Amino acid sequence: MLMLACPWCGERPEGEFICLGEAVRPRPLDPSALGDAEWAAYVSDRRNIRGRHDERWWHVRGCNTIFTIGRDTVTHQVFAGTQDEAAP
Ligand SMILES: [Zn+2]
Repeated sequence: MLMLACPWCGERPEGEFICLGEAVRPRPLDPSALGDAEWAAYVSDRRNIRGRHDERWWHVRGCNTIFTIGRDTVTHQVFAGTQDEAAP
């Protein structure tokens, strides 16, 4: 079982979290200038990275914090997490 370190609650099982995807996805500067296909690609397309990358996780069954951690998708090794914001 994958264990994730919430910045508030400490190490908790993966089932308490929802993965929100890649941490670094710059929002288009002018979304109204995009066509439907470009906007759909921004909303839906993911890179499915093999190896280490940063992900956003939501502690939905815990303290409701959204934070960023590094994770290797091959080994599932988790790297340091930082608190970013609380979910609404
Ligand atoms: Zn938490």
